[in-house]
Amino acid sequence: MSENNGMFIRVDIEESLNEDTELCKLLVESCPVDIFALGDADELTTVAENLDECTLCDICTDAAPGQVQIVKLYRE
Ligand code: SF4
Repeated sequence: MSENNGMFIRVDIEESLNEDTELCKLLVESCPVDIFALGDADELTTVAENLDECTLCDICTDAAPGQVQIVKLYRE
């Protein structure tokens, strides 16, 4: 599990997701605010400066249930 924090949002990515490169690419292409990117070994990473732009649209969590989690770091 890797964790990447913004001020308001944390994205948790299960390491096992990296075994599915096509799914990683799909996530990179699907996020409307470009939060995901591929690292040097095609592993899924996040773009730190975009994390707090997350719209909580659930596209990523629907595409990779249980493997990507968006955690709100604020109280509503
Ligand atoms: S919930 Fe939507 S905006 Fe947020 S990281 Fe996932 S795909 Fe991107």
